[in-house]
Amino acid sequence: MKMRNDYKIVIGLEIHAQLLTKTKMFCGCSTEYSFDDPNTNVCPVCMGMPGALPITNEQAIRFGVKAALALNCRVNLYSRFDRKNYFYPDLPKGYQISQYKYPLAEHGYLPIETPNGEKKVRIRRLHLEEDAGKLIHQSDKIDTAEYSLVDLNRAGIPLAEIVTEPDMASPREARIFMEKLRNILRYIDVCNGNLEEGSLRCDANISLVDPETGRSTPRIEVKNINSFKFVEHALEYEANRLRRFFEGDKDVVRETRGWDSKLQMTISQRGKEEENDYRYFPEPDIPPIVLREEFIEEIKGELPELPDAKKKRFMQMYNIPEYDASILVSSKELANFFEECCAKYDKPKIVSNWIMTEVLRELKERGVEINETKITSKHLVELLKEIDKGTISANTAKSVLERAFETGEMPNEIVEKQGLKQISNADEIRKIVQKVVEENPKVVAQYRGGKTKAMAFFIGQVMKVTRGKANPKMVNQLVKEALESPEE
Ligand SMILES: [Zn+2]
Repeated sequence: MKMRNDYKIVIGLEIHAQLLTKTKMFCGCSTEYSFDDPNTNVCPVCMGMPGALPITNEQAIRFGVKAALALNCRVNLYSRFDRKNYFYPDLPKGYQISQYKYPLAEHGYLPIETPNGEKKVRIRRLHLEEDAGKLIHQSDKIDTAEYSLVDLNRAGIPLAEIVTEPDMASPREARIFMEKLRNILRYIDVCNGNLEEGSLRCDANISLVDPETGRSTPRIEVKNINSFKFVEHALEYEANRLRRFFEGDKDVVRETRGWDSKLQMTISQRGKEEENDYRYFPEPDIPPIVLREEFIEEIKGELPELPDAKKKRFMQMYNIPEYDASILVSSKELANFFEECCAKYDKPKIVSNWIMTEVLRELKERGVEINETKITSKHLVELLKEIDKGTISANTAKSVLERAFETGEMPNEIVEKQGLKQISNADEIRKIVQKVVEENPKVVAQYRGGKTKAMAFFIGQVMKVTRGKANPKMVNQLVKEALESPEE
């Protein structure tokens, strides 16, 4: 039987964002944890000692509201914490404090740009909760007994859980959504957005629907997705696996699966527990969160310009194409860098070209944001001005920039130290051209015999002699002159 591929893909996401508060959700312990130093930021509250009383962190509520507003949610004036009961060794209380029935915010949306145009992904809810601890499994150590260690440094770290409606119709859209969400959370400084380190975590629900019969596959939850690439890969893998359901594959059942990036496949983890397994009930030790409208308005006032608005402004103010603008606003740091450069150098398109090619390539190679490098807007602007002045060629400038990324030295210093100044003295270049021409009479004859491509040979030779420093325009012109001048 032929595999059909016109099934409709339905994807919803559940994202956990670690909030950048200094202290934990319900106690004063520091959130600056390191797994090298286990169980150092703990107290009776986050260790779940009997009788310890939690107190809600106001900053976590502020961050939650800020994120909710940036995602166009309605912030609820009344929300409440519940206990989500389950047993796991990294959860000392035997329950997680979360918001279930009355979440902090609901009914939001985030527009994303898909290959088929703009579309709104609805946000069902955003609620606050605490993180669990971490288990460190020792079973891989051969000479020791099999056991696991518990580290509670992460227990009680505030999280915002963001749940979307199942509005994404392809793994690609899910990835676009995640990238945009991360960008926004970073713009508003509520989450550092690091997927690899787990400060932003993504679980995905996926099912397929047969458009002809309306029949749908069981819903699969995919966990452990810790990079944008894996969001797409894991969901593509699942979409393909789910297709088999329509051919009668009995192994396709409702369950939770984990993405294994080494094997490049999802692996069954457990059957999906029903919601009522958690025995939610109101947390008796924490009063409900009751917000005033003024509080929400105050936080709305603190929202910075968000990526979409920034993109529009860049296009208008700097007269750059939409493509450039979307790349420049893809990180707040990069957008700031661009604007700083434009303030000192009035050719935005040239700044944009350099950022999108050379600067981004360096950042990608180093795996850092622009503000984590030794480069400032001063470096790029100085470099661009030197190109304009003719001190260095664009080609030399690329290697100067590379060096500046290494050492943080200013472009002028590098040019000076390494003797990279462009040779724009016509007499000097003419001498070199003459020498090259005299040394290659055969090639000269070829050129004069009609093989005009031979000119490239001479230009190349002159560049070689000058180690690429000769002004390319002048070399071109002078080589042409020399080759076409009547023979002596
Ligand atoms: Zn604590």
